[in-house]
Formats: sequence, C-alpha cells, structure tokens
Amino acid sequence: METIRNIYCVGRNYASHAKELKNDIPTSPFLFSKPTHALIEAGGQEINLPGDRGDIHYEVELVIHIAKSYEKGMKVDELVDRMALGIDFTLRDVQSELKKKGYPWLLAKGFPNSAVITQFIEFPGIENCKQFDFALWKNGEQVQRGNIQNMIFDLQTIIDFSALHFGLGKGDIIFTGTPEGVGPAAEGDHFALKWAENTLGKFSVSFKNN
Ligand code: ZN
Repeated sequence: METIRNIYCVGRNYASHAKELKNDIPTSPFLFSKPTHALIEAGGQEINLPGDRGDIHYEVELVIHIAKSYEKGMKVDELVDRMALGIDFTLRDVQSELKKKGYPWLLAKGFPNSAVITQFIEFPGIENCKQFDFALWKNGEQVQRGNIQNMIFDLQTIIDFSALHFGLGKGDIIFTGTPEGVGPAAEGDHFALKWAENTLGKFSVSFKNN
C-alpha cells in the first residue's frame, strides 16, 4: 500500500444509520480520525481483531483519496483522484461507554486493523459515483448497501470542513460514513466489499485476545 497520511472518518452521515443507533441527525459534519496503524488492505487474507473488548461492528464506507493540497474553492472532482471501499471496524460496547462518559472515540475506533480498505480505483467523478451502489456482503449475503446520494453531508461539504478544521492534502483519505445495516462480526466471517456489483476486496476475520 502506498503511503497514506491522515485518515479522517465521518460519523452519522446517513440518516438511516444514525436512526438505527438511536443517534440524532447531526446538523454539522461530525468527524473523527484513526491512526495509520489501523490500516490494512483487504487482500483475501484473514484479519485479526481484538477478541476481549466486546462486540466489534462492521461499517462499510466509500473511501476517497486526496490527490493534492487543498486550496479554497477546489471542487471534489479536481481534488479526489481515487476511491476505495473500506470498513470502519468499531468496538461498539467500548464506544457506548465512551459516549456515556463524553470521551473521544479513539479507543473504539483506532485499534490496529480497524481501517480495512480495498484496492483503490479511479474516482469516476461525483455524478458518475451516484449511479452506483456500494455494498458489503457477509458469508455470501448482502448486509449493507449504500449510495452517496443519501449522505447527509455531501463529499464537497466533508472536504471543505476537513480542510478548514484539520488541513487536507495529498495522501489523506476520508471514510465518508456508513449506511444502515451495521452489525457484529464473528469468528470466521467472510466479507466482500462490492462497488457496482464488482468485488474490490475481501477478507475473513479471526479474533485474538491480547
Ligand atoms: Zn463509520
């Protein structure tokens, strides 16, 4: 995998997902980040996840790759060169505790292998991107399906917001939020991430107590 710099992630960006977790629909973009140690490519292998910290949920997301330094006024189509699909693995029980305490989500979202990404493909442009769905299949059944048309905050808003508050440049990637259908991963589950019905990446999971 080439060098990736910052990993930004958008929370609650699909109303259907915010509702399933009984969260309010946000009124401004809601972002967090993951360490680069979280990254792993979905290359058909078995991926290890922590086995001793409660439920781990899958969240399939469209991931965009930033090609150059952001300058005010830049459009998504000039800034984004490639896209992938990713899973934002989340320690859901840990996250619930953190939410109660008002603590940041890093412990629930930032563990090693929590950011699984497929190979990158050329970004087709926003309008073309809206023509196709992305989907997550678990053990041969579709569990999540999304389309960027249903985002609460569109890619331009997310990019402008990230650039303003954190900075945005070449090598940064953004997980753009998950649609409904998140759920727990179990030992031996096989996952396939599909774009326009084509599999971009797959893997299985195993759990290990650390
Ligand atoms: Zn997510």
